[in-house]
Amino acid sequence: MLDPAVEIAPVSPVVALESPVVLAGIVNSVSVAYSTLFAHFGQFAQGRRRAEDRKRKEEHYLNILIKVDVHSIGTNSIVDRLLASPAPYVMTKSWVTVVTTASYAIGAKVLSASLSHCKSQYPLLVLATEALPADARTQLLEFGLEVRTVEPLLLDSVAAGANRAAFAEAGNKLRAFALTEFETLGLLDADTLVTQNIDHLLAHDTHGGVGVDVDQLAIAFACTCNNRRKPFYPREWTVENCGHTRFSQTDTYSHTPPFTHLSRLTATNDVALNSGVMVFRPSDKVCGDIEQFVRTNRETVQSYVFPDQQILQDVFQDRVRILPWFYNALKVLRVCHKPLWDNGASNTRVNVVHYIHEKPWSRRCESIAFPNNLPAWDADAEFQVDPSHAWWWWAHDNLLSREHQWVGE
Ligand SMILES: [Zn+2]
Repeated sequence: MLDPAVEIAPVSPVVALESPVVLAGIVNSVSVAYSTLFAHFGQFAQGRRRAEDRKRKEEHYLNILIKVDVHSIGTNSIVDRLLASPAPYVMTKSWVTVVTTASYAIGAKVLSASLSHCKSQYPLLVLATEALPADARTQLLEFGLEVRTVEPLLLDSVAAGANRAAFAEAGNKLRAFALTEFETLGLLDADTLVTQNIDHLLAHDTHGGVGVDVDQLAIAFACTCNNRRKPFYPREWTVENCGHTRFSQTDTYSHTPPFTHLSRLTATNDVALNSGVMVFRPSDKVCGDIEQFVRTNRETVQSYVFPDQQILQDVFQDRVRILPWFYNALKVLRVCHKPLWDNGASNTRVNVVHYIHEKPWSRRCESIAFPNNLPAWDADAEFQVDPSHAWWWWAHDNLLSREHQWVGE
């Protein structure tokens, strides 16, 4: 906590505050301001925030307290203004994932453990809706994750047919764009596994990182090859249209720096993106754009099979920057795009594996430490578990203590 040499007024029991607006209504003296401000930053101290991150926030709030003391004895106007001001005080970054069903809780735990294993300095924040069963929420909290409840943002996709309920949940991801207390967020689906340190995705260009600018979205291509022949996939989801087919051989895509503007690759939005890994800077403006798009384009949204990623493409348009395949290594790439992720050498290039389709926790398989070679996919074998699941099971078995391991549904 704070330097013991710094004398601070006694802190009242932590009170959960909804927003600075609520805060402004109840602050009526400097002493109350002290305790309330501490309650406010107390929220941030929860969970698995790293010491450095916490220290920065403490300094930030201490700075506010000092200003309050000097400039606003007996008033609350400065407190209001400081707490309402976004930059430059808030300089935080985090990973974030969304868990709306009990089975995804194990995914979030393995993901979080994989981030720690790869020495990420940033914590994983879990967004959940009220629909998440209480015991799943408890499990996540006991694992040390911060779980925040958000209003559901369900996107009705008529086009997804029988799968519409499952895909509708993906809309909740869009809530992460409203977390404006963070400067930059990296969203990782709970069915991803981090195999190398990817903190540079959250850094900014000036610090040797590759972070996005305000109003930009970094995201990788979807694989539209549809090798599983899913009948409800959009008609235009073909091998020819796949971003990994069209652009993987070009200089703009495969070379560093890893980000390429989508508009430099294609003049239109005719290439699909996968929202499983995204880097962005939350903002009220982007949130407003998303909400307005959803409100005013209801039929269009219903015609989307993957509404969340298609809405983001509509909203961000030429502000989309393409992440290379290895930041969102869809497990099907091993089959559909062998030159990218073949059965060997380029395992070491994979940074994040994305377990689309069947989830690793749905069936037990052998465990292989990453980045060791994975068995080849045998297209003829019936009921085969995707070989890439072996890496997830290695993380599960070796990075989670026994009481946090998967016990099935
Ligand atoms: Zn493809």
